[in-house]
Amino acid sequence: MNEAILALANVESAYGPVKAIRGVSLTVAEGRIVTVLGSNGAGKTTILKTISGIIDPRKGSIRFRGEDITAHEPSEVVRRGLSHVPEGREVFPLLSVHDNLLMGAYTRRDRDGVARDMETVFGYFPILRERARQDAGLLSGGQQQMLAIARAILAGPALILLDEPSLGLSPRLTKEIFEIVVRINRERGTTILLVEQNANMALNVADHGYVLENGRIVMEDTCERLREKDDIKEFYLGMK
Ligand code: ATP
Repeated sequence: MNEAILALANVESAYGPVKAIRGVSLTVAEGRIVTVLGSNGAGKTTILKTISGIIDPRKGSIRFRGEDITAHEPSEVVRRGLSHVPEGREVFPLLSVHDNLLMGAYTRRDRDGVARDMETVFGYFPILRERARQDAGLLSGGQQQMLAIARAILAGPALILLDEPSLGLSPRLTKEIFEIVVRINRERGTTILLVEQNANMALNVADHGYVLENGRIVMEDTCERLREKDDIKEFYLGMK
């Protein structure tokens, strides 16, 4: 078992009176792909926002690389090596593709490393090199997803939080993006915490999975075993 790079203990987050996650504990082993599955509104996005400091938890603690990062500022969390690819991509539409990528690297001082990572992401997503001078707002949904992932890599993270990369994409594009996610994990050693409604896809690429229902973890197992449990798919994930 690899060491845990990220550990949540009894984390609770709420929006005013609405409790979105209720005592979530989970660990992410270094170098792995871990997925959190759950239907719409289960609390997946809230978990990621709480980890990256966008939402302060009401209770519980979050440790990253052995240090407490509970309720730290998002910029501080990025500096420690954690990048968040938000749901809906959130690229800067009026900046060029190239400038969006540089925004990802704004906390870094190692110019050579940034230049190397720029080449790497252009290798993963050649379309971004072709479109480097265009405004990001002109890209298709799939290309914006590629840009959001590439921008996260430019921060040089040890861990990437990936929120529903398949949202709104065709099955073909979804497959393409997941293949790159696996390559990022295997080739760069980057740990990935992936939140998905597309359980089939996520269970195929991840090593370990958690199933979230109404803000609580109701099941945890290796993805190999989760894939075999048809009842989970039916009851918790709305799949037949
Ligand atoms: P989705 O796939 O729709 O994003 P999710 O599993 O990521 O679903 P969350 O977005 O984390 O779920 O939402 C969890 C709960 O918190 C839901 O009941 C949702 O309605 C509520 N919620 C989310 N954002 C807000 C907000 N800004 N204000 C109030 N309630 C919110």
